[in-house]
Amino acid sequence: MLVQILKRRQRMVLAQSLAFGVILALSRAQAAPCTQEALGVSRVLEVGASGGLQIGLKTYPRSLALVDHEIVLTFDDGPAAGTTPKVLDALAKECVRATFFLVGRNAEALPELVKREVADGHTVAHHTYSHPDATMRGLTDGAARADISRGFQADDLAAYGEATASPRVRFFRFPGFADTPELVNWLSTQNIAVFGADLWASDWTLMTADAERDLVLDRLDKEGRGIVLFHDTKQQTAAMLPSFLQELKKRGYKIVHIIPGSAPPPLRDAPAGWVSATEKIIAEVFARRRSQKPQSPGASPEEATPPAIVPAKP
Ligand SMILES: [Zn+2]
Repeated sequence: MLVQILKRRQRMVLAQSLAFGVILALSRAQAAPCTQEALGVSRVLEVGASGGLQIGLKTYPRSLALVDHEIVLTFDDGPAAGTTPKVLDALAKECVRATFFLVGRNAEALPELVKREVADGHTVAHHTYSHPDATMRGLTDGAARADISRGFQADDLAAYGEATASPRVRFFRFPGFADTPELVNWLSTQNIAVFGADLWASDWTLMTADAERDLVLDRLDKEGRGIVLFHDTKQQTAAMLPSFLQELKKRGYKIVHIIPGSAPPPLRDAPAGWVSATEKIIAEVFARRRSQKPQSPGASPEEATPPAIVPAKP
């Protein structure tokens, strides 16, 4: 009798284990595939930069030839322990792929997050090693080159466990968009694409997650397309991302995932009368530094704190 009870109990435990296993497998299966409900990636765009390439209308008079309602999501300054995992979770939930412009010393400190970015299918790009407050323009040409190269090495080592003389992904963004002709030429000789942005979330300015989401959606609706800049080091950005991505889907936006390639991408020229938005901001910031005067209370968010000139320091 006792033997029969034990055998029956064993069968029950086995049955329960099998049922649990099936449920677990189902839940994993449900979480893994990208369903039609998810925003997803509409197309993958190879970006080759043989001989150099500078794109992003805030800084350069040309950008990727995206069609109406196509956007490229980019995140700067990470990884950061408190926020990057939330950003990655939100992107994974919507089956979206983005490009992360890493700060080398952050990659060095948090290689597991960089490896997760690679494992999740994102593009891991570069944003200097130390992201100095003075930007690359505040360094000598030699010091700037050394910082950029060290960033390539640190990012690749974190991402792939090895670093060669040239970065695996030849995409770079200057901190604060503060380039120099010498550095742009030097990067061009290495076939490295320099990215600006077509629009940004202004997430260097403290605001609620809802306010940031509405601001960037308004800007997108006005521009219609473009390379969008966020910072995965910002709590408000991590917080707004799930509802932002859902709203993109509702409004008919399509995600373009950029990856390195050999062929140059189709480009579009800036409209007539184009001027650099970032050059004006950089000039103001450098002038303010020289005069050491406090910020004008009437300055717009971009003018008051330009992107990454007051960088996130997780
Ligand atoms: Zn930055």
